[in-house]
Amino acid sequence: MEAISEKAVTRLEDALGKENVYPDNPHRAVRAAVPSPFPVCHWEEHIPDIVVLPKTTEEVVEIMKIANEFKIPVVPRAGATGLADGAVPMRKGILLDIKRMDEILEIDDVNMTATVQPGLGMLELNKTLSRIGLFYPDDPASYPCSIIGGRIGSGGWSLMGSGYGHVPDLVISMEVVLPTGKVIRVGGGGGRKIRKSSVGYRLKDLFIGHSGTLGVTTEATLDLCKKPEAECPAYFGTGSFEESHDLALALERLGLKTMTAVVIFDNEKIEFLRRDDEAYIPQPKEVVSVVLALLYGSEGEVLAARKQVFETAVDKMKATYLGDEIAKGDWASRHDRYHITYHGRNAAGEVSMMSWHCEDAAIVHSELPYVRKKWHEIVKRYKREYDGYFDDWGMFMYTSNPFKAYGDYLTEVDIGVNELEMTPEIWQAFIKMKSEIAAVALEAGGSISTCHGGTRPGDVELACHQELAEGSFDLMKDIKKLLDPNNIMNPGKYLLDEAYQ
Ligand SMILES: Cc1cc2nc3c(=O)[nH]c(=O)nc-3n(C[C@H](O)[C@H](O)[C@H](O)COP(=O)(O)OP(=O)(O)OC[C@H]3O[C@@H](n4cnc5c(N)ncnc54)[C@H](O)[C@@H]3O)c2cc1C
Repeated sequence: MEAISEKAVTRLEDALGKENVYPDNPHRAVRAAVPSPFPVCHWEEHIPDIVVLPKTTEEVVEIMKIANEFKIPVVPRAGATGLADGAVPMRKGILLDIKRMDEILEIDDVNMTATVQPGLGMLELNKTLSRIGLFYPDDPASYPCSIIGGRIGSGGWSLMGSGYGHVPDLVISMEVVLPTGKVIRVGGGGGRKIRKSSVGYRLKDLFIGHSGTLGVTTEATLDLCKKPEAECPAYFGTGSFEESHDLALALERLGLKTMTAVVIFDNEKIEFLRRDDEAYIPQPKEVVSVVLALLYGSEGEVLAARKQVFETAVDKMKATYLGDEIAKGDWASRHDRYHITYHGRNAAGEVSMMSWHCEDAAIVHSELPYVRKKWHEIVKRYKREYDGYFDDWGMFMYTSNPFKAYGDYLTEVDIGVNELEMTPEIWQAFIKMKSEIAAVALEAGGSISTCHGGTRPGDVELACHQELAEGSFDLMKDIKKLLDPNNIMNPGKYLLDEAYQ
């Protein structure tokens, strides 16, 4: 793709105003970066040709029309915290930064909906909602820095999703600008606030988790909840991952409506946290693995559920309660844990200049031990072979079934990656490691990603050609070509270029 022509730049400036179009290098370069290891190796190759910051749907329509006419790629970028490189301009072109589209358009406290522009953050929305006793329960670990358009683009997963639902459940309807510039509304039937309808195809889901390849969400109507009166994060120590796995099942089986998540921290995770996390350093050596039961609801509900949880965990399964202070502190720090770029200690206790990277998959409860064993074998093998470049920082497993804390788990292995010294050879090893990790998820009947999307090298080939091989990927290509005849929307993602060959 040739750099963008002067004529196209002038058209963009006419449509948005010169002050909202950035052809200069600093604005472009900063928008090639995302937090996954990708950019350190390759970000310079993906600096967009121009950055635009629209404010309205009409301006997004104009951008699409210009992009189509001049056949320029368009890449939507929200908070750019996506871990699957969704916002990286693979073919450069126009970087459509949605951050100026940050208005709350309506709060309907009777029907419990908020209609917002996509550049708004959950934090800002919740500040406003808390004044009227409501909240929007999308709560990812990236809560302070990811924003609603990106949450929709990646089909995000929430730490509270087993109680309140995840992004696909929380978006009631949306306005979307298609790659041709046409504006559509998708949701339950045609109603903006209707959660359940049986009219038409379920098109809303097509425009969630598409990684910016099918259009730009310009407005979304979201489902709100009453702010819960009480919160109880209960952390229990066990003697092994196997004990935690059994305890998690026993807690799931309680069938509590207030159970918002069941989380397992495996042995390697506790070992890692013990190196420099103040909540885990003092834990006795008997605490090898940990289970969190998270309860949200009214005071009465949470109190009653807490009693049942403790009877199961402590009296019946003999787990050790870690105490109120650790429980409250650990849960309260859930949004801060991974924001520090370089952190972590190696097994010798030295600070290691590695950054956090996570591979996630959706795995059913019964397959967790198999996946855990295989993933650690893979990561430890790469750690041995490429000493100083990779480290095994342990695994978390969170319930991910929406509104039901049982069954599916977002299963995550955290890998320390030495980005600063990464060579092309190490980069290839990293891709190979990712591919082996993804293959295990498929062997276990899982899905390669619960929330990040399978758009990265190492995942993407398996996602498209194995996980979606039974006709789904072929249909995806047909849909892509139908909606985006010139392949302008985030080209180079999901192997969708195959549709145009
Ligand atoms: C520390 C940390 C913790 C994380 N924890 C979680 C977690 O708990 N749960 C979770 O789900 N994820 C998590 N992530 C990943 C990331 O935060 C999510 O993928 C998030 O949804 C991305 O939102 P964003 O605003 O950063 O979007 P971006 O990364 O900017 O974009 C994500 C995708 O959406 C597309 N997009 C952006 N805006 C639009 C739009 N308006 N219309 C159409 N497409 C659009 C982009 O092109 C891209 O493909 C974490 C990441 C970090 C760094």
